[in-house]
Amino acid sequence: MVDLRAAIRTIPDYPKPGILFRDITTLLSDPRAFRAAIDQLVAPHSNSQIRHVVGVEARGFILGGALAHQLSAGFIPIRKKGKLPGETVSVTYELEYGQDEMELHRDAVLPGERVLLTDDLIATGGTAVGAVELLRGLGAEIVAACFLVDLPDLGGARKLRELGVEVHALCEFE
Ligand code: 5GP
Repeated sequence: MVDLRAAIRTIPDYPKPGILFRDITTLLSDPRAFRAAIDQLVAPHSNSQIRHVVGVEARGFILGGALAHQLSAGFIPIRKKGKLPGETVSVTYELEYGQDEMELHRDAVLPGERVLLTDDLIATGGTAVGAVELLRGLGAEIVAACFLVDLPDLGGARKLRELGVEVHALCEFE
């Protein structure tokens, strides 16, 4: 059994003093850990009939591509404002300090389509809640949201569950 938590490196004082950044690039670069993480994230969904995996820029793209391939689903990106070429819907979401905007192609999902949302980590949940708003705004059915890491003290996973979203995370850090 691969210890996924141990495969994640912690960088102190990044991006600012006092923050412990959980660096997942060390998990991604470890062949056994990356394989195990993708296997564990897809396991609950082998019969979920997921049509699309939706990944949040940028680390959610790495997981999302691998998950989509494994589930024989398509992949849809949610990107920072101004990066998607077609007609988009957008949402303003809360960051730890301030706000940002992210977008989804308006024709990316059809009403009722079953999607799996993914990102590397959930902290306050601002990003994931914004993604849920975008997807539900287009009528998507969010089967679950999955992450490598949950920081439960910051309450994001709880917020998502309160919105009725099933949440899976492979490990937790304080
Ligand atoms: P939230 O919106 O839940 O507060 O923050 C989650 C978003 O910020 C995710 O898109 C995630 O990639 C990024 N993020 C915040 N803190 C960390 C961290 O310690 N490590 C990594 N890898 N991403 C983080």
